[in-house]
Amino acid sequence: MIGIIICFSNNSATPRRQLELRVHRQYTRGMSDRFPPALVDPFQRRINYLRLSVTDRCDFRCVYCMAEDMQFVPKPQVLTLEELEQVAAAFVALGVRKIRLTGGEPLVRNNLIGLVRQLGRLEGLEELALTSNGSRLAEMARPLREGGLTRVNISLDSLRRQRFRELTRFGDLARVIAGIDAAVGAGFRGVKLNAVILKGRNDDEVIDLVAFARERGIDIAFIEEMPLGQIDEHSRALSFCSSDELRQQIAAHWPLVAEGEPEGAAGPARYYRMADSASRVGFISPHSNNFCHLCNRVRVTVEGRLLLCLGNEHSADLREVLRGEDGSQEALQSAIVSAIARKPEKHHFTHDETPEILRFMNMTGG
Ligand code: SAM
Ligand code: SF4
Repeated sequence: MIGIIICFSNNSATPRRQLELRVHRQYTRGMSDRFPPALVDPFQRRINYLRLSVTDRCDFRCVYCMAEDMQFVPKPQVLTLEELEQVAAAFVALGVRKIRLTGGEPLVRNNLIGLVRQLGRLEGLEELALTSNGSRLAEMARPLREGGLTRVNISLDSLRRQRFRELTRFGDLARVIAGIDAAVGAGFRGVKLNAVILKGRNDDEVIDLVAFARERGIDIAFIEEMPLGQIDEHSRALSFCSSDELRQQIAAHWPLVAEGEPEGAAGPARYYRMADSASRVGFISPHSNNFCHLCNRVRVTVEGRLLLCLGNEHSADLREVLRGEDGSQEALQSAIVSAIARKPEKHHFTHDETPEILRFMNMTGG
């Protein structure tokens, strides 16, 4: 009788739901004793990379990331450090091999170093990375490295003190440069700079930023601004600088040799080498070069919302599972597996002044 009911209910489901059920069944079969080796979405993309947001708060207010006056998530809705650990452990058990801690500014979260130590012990995790604005790295780079962090990305949009302050609204350039140098000295497997270039604001500094990275032998990636959240400080359309423009500018100084199709950990970035330097130059081009077919990642927001795509609202509420009656690792893993079956094929970013995605990058976990 039960079998008949299940069969009937499956047949009446929509094709999308039937696909979800098929993928879910495939992964959850025998789940208590044998976890699946990998998460594969309906477009055959293997998900092995999690970007885990540890806070939506920040000591900066970068003009492309946040509005000046922001409302942050109330503390009770924020995942605790123990819950963040549980989420990370569930993804690693499901085959995720790289976790990046992000935010907001991850280094403003209390006891982040303790969390890093815990995650650093997860068996199967190969890379534990962090994206930071660098403001607290001068003090924290070494303990983070000792705690098990393997890589750091640091945002740097200008090398001019006043301009840096304008772009970040609160940032102190000297402190950030001290943070970058501390990270370089701490012996991470990789340190990389991220720069968002806006026309008429910092597009005259592209060469200086590459030179800064070259002096330290570290990589730098240029990111096209994405339409996440409603801002009125500037027009995203008028400020747009394409990766192609930047690449031509740089190539006129230092010939660039492409490293080929981005894959795996490099994800959406396309990297180029220069003959006379260990530094690489990358371009993350959500507008001019759609990279969705290579997507290997999902994000978890500070509220425990599993975001399946940067540019779509498809999500699953993991906090509800964590704080629910069961709350077990099995329940969490099952919720993750079901959600992956709904991962959208691609984003649809445009230059419209009214963004389709209202959540800001600090909420998204950039
Ligand atoms: N606070 C840290 C930082 O600034 O590196 C980590 C979080 S931040 C949201 C992660 C990255 O997203 C930064 O490199 C930042 O420049 C980038 N970012 C923020 N808003 C963006 C937007 N609207 N478009 C493109 N990149 C953005
Ligand atoms: Fe803060 Fe990073 Fe957003 Fe800047 S980009 S406001 S540093 S979260």
